[in-house]
Amino acid sequence: MAMNKKIIVGNWKMNGNGDMLNVMTETLKGVDLSRATVILCPPMPYIGAASKSPVDFGAQDCSGHEPGTSGAFTGEVSAAMIAETGTKYVLVGHSERRLHHGETNAIVAEKAKQALKVGLTPIICIGETVEERNAGQTNAIVEAGLRECVPGKGCIVAYEPRWAISAVSGGIPATPKDIQEAHEFIAGILESMGLAGTPILYGASVNGDNAAEILTLPHIDGALVGAKSLKPADFFPVIEAVSNL
Ligand code: PEP
Repeated sequence: MAMNKKIIVGNWKMNGNGDMLNVMTETLKGVDLSRATVILCPPMPYIGAASKSPVDFGAQDCSGHEPGTSGAFTGEVSAAMIAETGTKYVLVGHSERRLHHGETNAIVAEKAKQALKVGLTPIICIGETVEERNAGQTNAIVEAGLRECVPGKGCIVAYEPRWAISAVSGGIPATPKDIQEAHEFIAGILESMGLAGTPILYGASVNGDNAAEILTLPHIDGALVGAKSLKPADFFPVIEAVSNL
């Protein structure tokens, strides 16, 4: 991963199918990837296509259970199994995992550790809910997310204000000022943890129209894209925004 490239991650969530993935990876062969590291995160059954893809793949989750590689954990997929497919990254702690599956910072930290152990890069998602924001707790939640979830070097952090994610009903896009303040704060905390230089992505309602503005803000190394990563016509303008920076 060249550090001067922006990182664009497409999180398909529980969407898509094999045909959609073929269309996406085939079409990506014609896209200028010289300035962007693109990471596609399809649902788990499709990550086996990683080796045939022109872009990197990421899983959307991995098991945090010890001993890590295998065990009696029905339904879980270990980081080692993910790595074996040629997939290089894994999202951990996405807000939908926290919301629907009760994942805490401690659980997310275990997952990140398992990923690092087998050479996967964890993309660790942190961010506050609207209630936390309205209670003035944004910085406290973000700082706890960083200190409790990021186990060390070799990770990527994704800041996703949960109130601004498009799937959240009434999701309100954050302003560039909101985003900039949060990213400056995150960069400072990471530095205080001895982790300066850890890439920091922004995620929540990123699209082809706002990507260029967001990606030029300080301390933003890329974007995590949900809804607008499913179709080439929506995803490619985000990738192309990087070429025009
Ligand atoms: C997400 O859920 O990670 C996300 C960034 O979603 P969206 O881009 O749809 O807001």
